[in-house]
Amino acid sequence: MTELRLEGVSKRYGTDADGTTALQDVELTVRDGEFFTLVGPSGCGKTTTLRTIAGFEEPTEGTVAFDGEPMTNVAPEDRDVGVVFQSYGLFPHMSVAENVGYGLRFRDPPEGTTIDERVADLLDLVDLEGMGERDPDQLSGGQQQRVALARALAPEPDLLLLDEPMSALDARLRESLRRQLTRIQSTLGITTVYITHDQREALAISDRVAVMSDGRIEQVATPQAIYREPKTRFVAEFVGENNLFDGIVRTRDGDRAHVDVGETTFELAGSRLPSEGQRVSFCVRPAALARAVETNQFPVTIETSEFRGEHVRAYGRWNEMSVALQLEAVPDGDVTVGFEPDAAHVIESG
Ligand code: ATP
Repeated sequence: MTELRLEGVSKRYGTDADGTTALQDVELTVRDGEFFTLVGPSGCGKTTTLRTIAGFEEPTEGTVAFDGEPMTNVAPEDRDVGVVFQSYGLFPHMSVAENVGYGLRFRDPPEGTTIDERVADLLDLVDLEGMGERDPDQLSGGQQQRVALARALAPEPDLLLLDEPMSALDARLRESLRRQLTRIQSTLGITTVYITHDQREALAISDRVAVMSDGRIEQVATPQAIYREPKTRFVAEFVGENNLFDGIVRTRDGDRAHVDVGETTFELAGSRLPSEGQRVSFCVRPAALARAVETNQFPVTIETSEFRGEHVRAYGRWNEMSVALQLEAVPDGDVTVGFEPDAAHVIESG
């Protein structure tokens, strides 16, 4: 059981004059037993964070600690972490069972079991019972990835680190594998850090999510809070689709405000409203912009629509702003939509 802490972690590659800052002052606490996901676009520093936790990279500044114990001088092999990468990294000349048992050659299997029993238990856990004698190349991609997971779990690590483990798999397989993964993780109660660039996957799988951009943490919260209460513009735009409005507060009375966006005045309700004369940015999800709502109406010039099965997603413009709508049917012309004052969520300006 392990709590993981990153304190003021920065990582620079190369020299000061000619280098890349991959991480800037990253602060994170991953709680004991938590399924924690780092999500962000390519190059934002996810892999560097994971490699720093595993000990493959040393932070330029800051510390990584497991249960309050700084890991600064602890080699990767002594950190008790299991790592699974996107490329499964199975040993091709070893059977599935030998792959899973590999890490047990260097340490004793858990009390009261033999290596063979431990390997059989793990193959059971990842639904590959009876496949131990096969070679990795006789398995599908999804099965190989489950062998890699079993191999990482075999030595009973304190911490499980997963770097885009499913990105090479097709969408349907990924969904079924992620259900298996969450089941295994909660059965074992192992502290897990998962990396993905797929925000939907992050919301679906995690207890908490850290959204990263440009080497920094933008927000750490539950999936619900990340979706409903994005803290920054980046999070509002990266997670799901959103409509972002920039305006100026005209009047403010308690938890109500009137906000001018261009020539239009909107009424907003909420606790995070700035005071009169201040700039304010707020977002409204496509599903909250409806034709039936009579407050805060504005006209949208429709440009394209996509059929999504359950609904139609339409894209259009209002003044200079691009707008995403969720409609029941493809519109046959421009539409006027409105939103309730409490459907708007205020984000940090900037
Ligand atoms: P992806 O989703 O594409 O894997 P990522 O979020 O995992 O991206 P990182 O691999 O952590 O991002 O990279 C963060 C930044 O650090 C990038 O700008 C990358 O080019 C840079 N970087 C990573 N590794 C090195 C290295 N060994 N030397 C120099 N720069 C590096």
